[in-house]
Formats: sequence, structure tokens, C-alpha cells
Amino acid sequence: MRQLLLAVPLLLSLLLSGCGAAPQTDDGRLNVVATTGQIGDAVANVGGARVNLTTMLGPGIDPHTYVATEGDLFTFQAADLILYNGLHLEAQLERVLDQIGASGQASVVAVGARVPEERLLSWEPEKGFPHDPHIWNDVQIWRYAVEAIRDALIQADPAGSAEYSRNADAYLAELDALDTYIRDRATALPPERRVIVTAHDAFSYFGRAYGFEVEAVQGVSTEAEAGTADIRALAEIVLQRKVPAIFVESTISPRTIEAVQAAVRAAGQELALGGELYSDALGAADSDAGTYIGMMRHNIDTIAAALGG
Ligand SMILES: [Zn+2]
Repeated sequence: MRQLLLAVPLLLSLLLSGCGAAPQTDDGRLNVVATTGQIGDAVANVGGARVNLTTMLGPGIDPHTYVATEGDLFTFQAADLILYNGLHLEAQLERVLDQIGASGQASVVAVGARVPEERLLSWEPEKGFPHDPHIWNDVQIWRYAVEAIRDALIQADPAGSAEYSRNADAYLAELDALDTYIRDRATALPPERRVIVTAHDAFSYFGRAYGFEVEAVQGVSTEAEAGTADIRALAEIVLQRKVPAIFVESTISPRTIEAVQAAVRAAGQELALGGELYSDALGAADSDAGTYIGMMRHNIDTIAAALGG
């Protein structure tokens, strides 16, 4: 690990000085790299055929702990535009992205920077991370990210301006319909059942937007391990609130959530596993959660089925 950390800046400086071969051929399309699937899906919808898109983090990949590979650095090198979430979501990529941005070789844009500060939730300001990065889990807030993506595409490829604007308008209308769908399913649940218990704290924006209390074993990032005290504390909440079901996440081992279930059952209360939620990454391309809209629908459908009784 130490060797890799030392090697990355060296490799990066070679790449930025023009050594090494770009893997993508120049066919006139804009080469765009998105870190997360949520961003990549928005780029595909807004950019359409004008964009050659690479999405770095596939299904099941945890953005909080992801470290750039040598191949990723070549992918970044071939990009005209790199779009990432920011707000310390891609914690291990930030240094590399800062260096590429500073070099001027590609435009590097954090889509989270577009969200007005008063709409962001607090995280750990005392540690230098003022805001919770899970902004896609409130559809109305994710609209800001889509607008940032549209504007970054227009700036990088002004000839496509009308097409990007038209595509963005159509996609934003789909997001408004998605927001209504989630809200309707959420409000159909009895208020006392609107509690989402998951492995890590990815659903605070979702909870605020759609009226759920959210509880998790781990904090906003997965960088720190969960301990037995965290599991006990969460089991206590589940027991007191008589929560009927809790949820595993696609990017995180089910171990801690299964431990909460075991602790609650040992105390004599039944507790179901309500299914898998896509918290930080899309599902496989051929699954119902292979798009951002599909992921969000899957999550509310899973939550509503498990908590609906
Ligand atoms: Zn997360």
C-alpha cells in the first residue's frame, strides 16, 4: 500500500507531462470521465451521442474507500472533462483530481459544489468535512448536480449547447416525476413506520426529503470500522421503536446489519432483513437499479414493501 501511495504522484506527474499513451482514440466526441454511477448516468442522459463516457466506480464499489489504480490514471489522462461528486465522497481520489485540475490538462468539476450551502446537511465540520456528500438521495437536490453537469458539458463543448440544454430539460422533468413517485410511496406509509435502519449513514438527505427517521451502524463515511458498541446501540433503537425491518446495502458487507438482527432477535423481538438498498452505487447495468432513476425507485419500493406491513 505504501509503495502504491508513493508511486501514484510519480506516475501522475509522468502522465501530466505527456508521457504514456492515451487509451481512447480521438473521434471528435468529448471524452468525459465520471466517478460515480449516479454522475455517469446523468452524463449519459444529458451528453447523449456527443460524449464518450467512462464511469469509474461500477456496481458494488464503495466511493468512500476507493483508491485510483494505474489504469484509472491513464483514464483521467485521456479525459477532456472529469466530473466527481466532491464533498469528500471520493476521499482517496481528491488529491489526484486536485492535481489534474491544477495542471489544466482537463476540466475537473465537483458537481456537489453547485448545491446551495443552506440545503446541505452537516457532517463533521471540526474534522474539515462540513457537509454530508450523499446528495443524490434527495432528487430535488440532485437536480443541482444535473445542472452542473449540463453547464460543464456546454463549457467543454459549446457547439453542443442546444442539445445539452434540451436533453437536460427532458431529464430534469423525469427527475421531477421520480421525486413525486418517491414522495407518494413514502407518505402512504404510517408515520410511526417511517424508520430506515442501514449499515452506514447514507440516507439523511432521503430521510429529510421524504419524511423518514434514519439510523445506521456506521457514520457518513465507511472509512472507520463499526464496533460492537455501535451494533448494540442500534439494536436498542430497533427494539424501542419496534422497527419491523432493516436493510443491507449493495456497497457494504451485510455483516453488521446481520449482527443487529441477531442482537434484536436475542432480545426476543422479531426483525426482518428488508432487502438490499443501493446507497452509494448503482446496480448492474441489466438490473432494475442500473440507472439513477431505477436505483431510487428500487430503494423506495424495497423500503415501502418492508415497512408497509
Ligand atoms: Zn456513503
